[in-house]
Amino acid sequence: MPAPQNAEAREVYEKERAHVLAPWTAWGKHDPMVVTKSEGVYLWDGDDNKLLDFTSQLVNTNIGHQHPVVVKAIQDQAAEMCTINPAHANAARAEAARLISSIAPEGMNRVFFTMAGTEAVEHAIRMARRHTGRVKTLSAFRSYHGATTTSMNLTGDTRRWANDYGNTGAVHFHAPFLYRSQFYAETEEQECERALQHLDDLIALEGPDHFAALIIESIPGTVGIMVPPADYLRGVREICDKYGIVMICDEVMSGFGRAGTWLALDNFRNGPDDWTPDLITFAKGSNSGYIPLGGVIIHDRIAESFKDTPYTGGLTYAGHPLACGSAVATINLMRDEGIVEHAKKLGEEVIGPRLREIAEKHPSVGEVRGLGCFWALELVKNQETREPLAPYGGSSEAMAKAMGAAKAEGVLLFMNYNRFHVVPPLVITEEQVREGLDVLDRALDVADGYVD
Ligand code: PMP
Repeated sequence: MPAPQNAEAREVYEKERAHVLAPWTAWGKHDPMVVTKSEGVYLWDGDDNKLLDFTSQLVNTNIGHQHPVVVKAIQDQAAEMCTINPAHANAARAEAARLISSIAPEGMNRVFFTMAGTEAVEHAIRMARRHTGRVKTLSAFRSYHGATTTSMNLTGDTRRWANDYGNTGAVHFHAPFLYRSQFYAETEEQECERALQHLDDLIALEGPDHFAALIIESIPGTVGIMVPPADYLRGVREICDKYGIVMICDEVMSGFGRAGTWLALDNFRNGPDDWTPDLITFAKGSNSGYIPLGGVIIHDRIAESFKDTPYTGGLTYAGHPLACGSAVATINLMRDEGIVEHAKKLGEEVIGPRLREIAEKHPSVGEVRGLGCFWALELVKNQETREPLAPYGGSSEAMAKAMGAAKAEGVLLFMNYNRFHVVPPLVITEEQVREGLDVLDRALDVADGYVD
């Protein structure tokens, strides 16, 4: 990335490079884009280039950048009360907990607040261990659950394990992914059935009595937006019931409208009486990341364990008034403006059809998958062999050049190995999304040049 020409932005860039240890990046290679302004679905870089944000940053700014209603709610809350001991009640936390419970399935009435998704995962696992008296955990190989010791071991993306040595009792399984099936399946039904059988066999062999929790992203996000077969999560619930394992749905990325429903798991439940998880982890979209916030939504059957003996966990900033105030404003805004319904409609009528059209045309596109405002394009060197256009855990010139071509035309894409994710803010208009997809279409001509 060339350093910005603009003097002020260049100073930011130099200071960053001198003093920041950036996430997931060697400091000697830290070469960040400076962002000077963000508004709605756009960002401006250090040289004042306007970019359409097809990333929602780390898939969190669901209501777009600097939404005036939420900015005002934060200002009002700051004027009233910035922070308070979490042992005290405050109006913002009480209302945020009520609203968050209201979007969860029946019987999930209690919220434990954290500052981020990783902490939510850590606490969900601790709760499950307290509830069951067991230690080991299950998570999918293709998953991302966070970046602290336990959550990192749960994260099945092995490239991220460099500092972590698997000492937390995490056991991994293969979740369904028909395009790269581990089960030699040819249909969704086969993939679902065999993935469930594999999970059941794995638990039986490892010893069911050791497992406290199974955590699964309702729709795996960072690792590739693989929408599971319709009955898979229901089957996982049955296996958890069979062995007394606490089922945690990780909705940190997929929740709060991203998948065209309030929670992604709503896509896999037939009405209010259908299966429910025991715990749900959330963060990002709950307040679009305006102030760090996360948490665990707890089913009454687990909360019961902590009725007479406390859950021994707490954080100084849990239920922080500014964070909770911004969540209240965000959820109310999303309800008042029908933002979740808008995301669903965009997925069904605009993004899905246009991406499928793009896939037909480009030999570099192996598969398109997703729903709502949550889509991935899997790029390949060869559609027959499905060899990825960048190796797992690595990068390639083809991907970097295609990404650069989109950026040169004003669109910021999310890239992960051989995938581009189309994950714009849910408030994007049909016209804006079409413009961005036209740019993506042209950028894929560059990727096509690397096909065998
Ligand atoms: N779980 C999932 C499914 C996520 O996508 C993420 C973040 N990408 C996390 C947990 C961790 O959240 P955070 O980065 O807010 O700690």
